[in-house]
Amino acid sequence: SSEKIVPKRVLLKISGEALLGEGSYGIDPKVANAIVSDIANVVKSGVEVCLVIGGGNIFRGMTAASKGIDRVHGDYAGMLATVINAIVLHNVLEQHHIESCIMSAIDIPQIAENYVRNKAISHIKQGRVVIFAAGTGNPYFTTDTAAALRAIEMGCDIMLKGTQVDGVYDSDPKNNPDAKRYDTITYSEALIKELNIMDATAFSLAQDNKLPMIVFNVHKEGNFENVLLGNGVCTRVVA
Ligand code: UDP
Repeated sequence: SSEKIVPKRVLLKISGEALLGEGSYGIDPKVANAIVSDIANVVKSGVEVCLVIGGGNIFRGMTAASKGIDRVHGDYAGMLATVINAIVLHNVLEQHHIESCIMSAIDIPQIAENYVRNKAISHIKQGRVVIFAAGTGNPYFTTDTAAALRAIEMGCDIMLKGTQVDGVYDSDPKNNPDAKRYDTITYSEALIKELNIMDATAFSLAQDNKLPMIVFNVHKEGNFENVLLGNGVCTRVVA
C-alpha cells in the first residue's frame, strides 16, 4: 500500500565532515547545534534514535597511512576522534534536554560506557539516545560499517546516512550539473551501477541483513524528521 509507516527505532549516521561547518578541521558548535536540534525534534516525536558519529573531521587512518603513519595506529587515532565528536554531541543533546549516553567500542570508562549490546537496548527502551562511539573498535573498518552493524544489533527499522548532498546520484552532483538523484534504488542496482554509497563491508552487511537505508542532506533544517515521515528529499536504498 502507499500508506506511510513512520519507523519506530532508527539509527542516524553522521559523518565527521558534517560537523566541520565553515572550518576545515574540528567541530563547528553552530553546526552541531543545528543537527542536534533536528535530532531532538525526532526524539520528541516518539522515535527511538541511535547515533553513530564519524571522525573524519579530525583524523582518518587511511589518509594518515598515505602520509607514512602506520595504518593500525592511524585507525586507532581515528576511532578516538569519533569519541571526541561523541563527547560534544552528548553535551549538545543535554543542552536540548534530550537524555543520551555514549557507549564506546573501546573501553574509556571515565568518558563513556563500554559497549554492551543488552545495556544499549535497555538505554534505548528507557528513552535515551545512545551515541555509539569508537566505530566497531577494530582497525580497517569504518564508521559506516559500525553504523550498519549497530543498526542491525539494535533492531533498528532503518539506518539514515546524513551527508552533505540530497541522496544518491548517478554521478557526482558537485562535478556534474546534470547528475540525477535516485528516489529509490535497490542494493543490487547500486552495486551494479558502482554508486559508492558506502564501503564494501558496510554495504554487504546492510544488504545481507535487509537493512533499508535513507541517504539525505543533514544540513537542511527539519530534514531528518521530514525524510522519516516520507516528505523530505532523499534516496531510499532497499534490499
Ligand atoms: N575507524 C576504524 N574502525 C572503525 C571505525 C573507524 O579504524 O570501526 C577509524 C578509521 O581510521 C577512520 C576513522 O576512524 O578513518 C574515522 O572514521 P570514518 O572515516 O568512518 O569517519 P567519517 O568519514 O564518517 O567522518
